[in-house]
Amino acid sequence: MKRVLVTGAGGFIGHHLVSYLKKKSYWVRGADLKYPEYEPTAADDFALLDLRRWEDCLQATDGIDEVYALAADMGGMGFISAHHAEILRNNSLINIHTLDAARENGVKRYLYASSACVYPEYRQTDANVTALKEEDAYPAHPQDAYGWEKLVTERLCTHYLEDYGLETRIVRFHNIFGPLGTWDGGREKAPAALCRKVSLAKHSGSFEIEIWGDGEQTRSFCYIDDCVDGIYRLMRSNHREPLNLGQDRLVTINQLADMVAKIAGIKLARKHIPGPQGVRGRNSDNTRLREVLRWEPQISLEEGLRRTYLWIDSQVRAAERGALKSVPNRSSLGRRVSVS
Ligand code: NAD
Repeated sequence: MKRVLVTGAGGFIGHHLVSYLKKKSYWVRGADLKYPEYEPTAADDFALLDLRRWEDCLQATDGIDEVYALAADMGGMGFISAHHAEILRNNSLINIHTLDAARENGVKRYLYASSACVYPEYRQTDANVTALKEEDAYPAHPQDAYGWEKLVTERLCTHYLEDYGLETRIVRFHNIFGPLGTWDGGREKAPAALCRKVSLAKHSGSFEIEIWGDGEQTRSFCYIDDCVDGIYRLMRSNHREPLNLGQDRLVTINQLADMVAKIAGIKLARKHIPGPQGVRGRNSDNTRLREVLRWEPQISLEEGLRRTYLWIDSQVRAAERGALKSVPNRSSLGRRVSVS
C-alpha cells in the first residue's frame, strides 16, 4: 500500500483530498497546524505540526512515498493584499523545508499546490481578459507576495527534479470552492463569502450585500470535487511542467452574487464599496490541461454553488442558533466580498 502525505490536511482542499485518497485505498498521513474544522479527518494518521520547522517536516515525510504539498498561510484578497511579509516568510519556510525533507526521506513523487496568482498583473488588467496559458507566467510580475512565493517554489520544484531526481508536479489552482471550506473570519474567498452573505440576507430579511469595487472584476471558479480529481490525475501523469487546474468560464462577481441569490430564491441589492479587488480579470486557458490529462473539470458552476450554498446556509443557521463549537459573532459574519 502506498503511503501518502497531505500537508494542509486540516484545510479546505487538503481535507477533501485526504477523503478522496482514502477512497482509493492509500495509506494517508495528514499534517497541519490544526484538525479539519467541520468534520473529522479520514486520514490514517494526523500529525499536528508546524511545517515552517525543518524537524517537523522531517517527521511528516518519514516513511512516505508521495507528498501532496498543500499547506500554506493564505486567504482571500483581503488577507493576501494585507499580509505580504507574513505570507512570504511563512510559505517560503513551509515549502523549502517540506521539499527538502521529502528529498532527505527518499520521497518518490511530490505535488506542489501553486496558484493562478503567479500570473503577471500586466496580463490581467481587463475584465474581458484573455485566458492565461501556463507560459504566460513569464516575464514574471505577480501582483502580491503570495504569487511571488508560489513562483519561486515552482522553480524550486523544477530544480529538485533536475538536480535530485525527485519527481515533482506543479498545479496552478484557479479559485477552488465548495463545502467544508472557510466561510467567515476574514480568510474566506468570494464564493463562500457570497453564500454566507446571501444566507444572512435571506434570514434577516435585509436584502442588500456589500461588494468591494464595482463587482465587474472577473474570475473562473472550479468545484472542489473536480479539483481533487485533477490533482490526482496530475500526480499520476508524466507532466513535469506547471499545469492550470480550473474552469474556463469567466463570470463577474456581480454575476456570481446573482447566481447565489437565485439558488437561495431571493432578489438582492448590491452595495459597492471601496476595497481590494485583486487583478481586474483572470481566466484559465485549459488547452494544456485537456491535452495532458485528457480530462477537464465536469461540475457546472451552478451545481457547485448550489451544493456550497446549502452547506454554508446550514452553517450560518447553526451559528445563529449557537449550535457550532466556535460561534462567529454577528460582526464576523460581515458583509464584504473579496477575490484573489
Ligand atoms: P486552506 O487555508 O484551507 O488550507 C491551508 C492549510 O495549511 C490550513 O489548514 C493551514 O492551517 C495549513 N498551514 C498553514 N501554515 C501551516 C504550517 N506552518 N504548518 C502546517 N500547516 C500549515 O487553503 P486551501 O484553499 O485548502 O489551499 C490549499 C493550497 O492550495 C494552498 O497552498 C493554497 O495556496 C493553494 N491554492 C488554493 C486556491 C483556492 O482557491 N482555494 C487557489 C490557489 C492556490
